[in-house]
Amino acid sequence: METDRRARPLPASPTSKEHTNMEAVLSPVEPGRRHVAQAPAAITAVNLTRRFGEGDTSVHALRGVSLGVASGQLTAVMGPSGSGKSTLMHILAGLDRPSGGSVEIAGTEITTLGDKQLTRLRREHIGFIFQFFNLLPMLTAEENVLLPMELAGVKPDPAWVKELTAKVGLSERLSHRPSELSGGQQQRVAVARALLSRPTVMFADEPTGNLDSTTSAEILELLRDAVSSFGQTTVMVTHDAHAAAIADRILFLADGRIVKDLGPSNAGQILVAMEEVSAL
Ligand code: ADP
Ligand code: MG
Repeated sequence: METDRRARPLPASPTSKEHTNMEAVLSPVEPGRRHVAQAPAAITAVNLTRRFGEGDTSVHALRGVSLGVASGQLTAVMGPSGSGKSTLMHILAGLDRPSGGSVEIAGTEITTLGDKQLTRLRREHIGFIFQFFNLLPMLTAEENVLLPMELAGVKPDPAWVKELTAKVGLSERLSHRPSELSGGQQQRVAVARALLSRPTVMFADEPTGNLDSTTSAEILELLRDAVSSFGQTTVMVTHDAHAAAIADRILFLADGRIVKDLGPSNAGQILVAMEEVSAL
């Protein structure tokens, strides 16, 4: 599978671009080096913790995560199962609340918002793509795409709806229900649904986890294209080194902490990093 679609300079040494998460937030960028920290942050998270349950049986899913999600970039999040990837995404997207720490989305601190304000902020600023598509079975593809904006009481620009559904390759399938669509087509519907409001950040949690490799490559191409052609800030959790190879930045979580932070890397470099992280 050909996933490394853009020409990128290789790092001088494999470790030269690693830095700690606080440096990513705080340090000035070295001149002349292309790095995601140059872009302004769409989301800034500081010292996030998340504990599930109380007492002896409680689980520390996040143990102090700080990061800035750069605007107009694709950030991949990798790490072993149970390392806290989904928990981090849900908190960054305002779907879950942290036990401690802060999250700012488009300049608004979300951890202190009430439920109604949070829902409104999510509708305006967040798109989410799930592993199992999460389409409503009784709605057509087009109705699924339009639903979030309908709930928000916003009328989408018909020209944009047309452009977007064509871009994701759904023009001929708009009146089909999810049960009449393949997995790849259902995920295309989910991608269009997430992109329709031009969200500040689009999140994708294992978006290719339920697709074969050819279909995965097509969906990854769509995600990359959204970033490259209209600057869609995107955060994607993935297990797949080929998927992470389309990213501008790759964060590795282990046991609730960011343990590695790479710039653009090829699948081979990512596999090496994954092995290092699982050995921690
Ligand atoms: P990942 O997405 O990296 O596989 P998760 O963020 O789903 O990891 O989970 C991190 C840890 O938190 C795991 O130990 C998981 O069992 C635990 N966890 C996640 N969600 C809940 C929950 N709702 N209740 C209790 N424990 C949870
Ligand atoms: Mg997960």
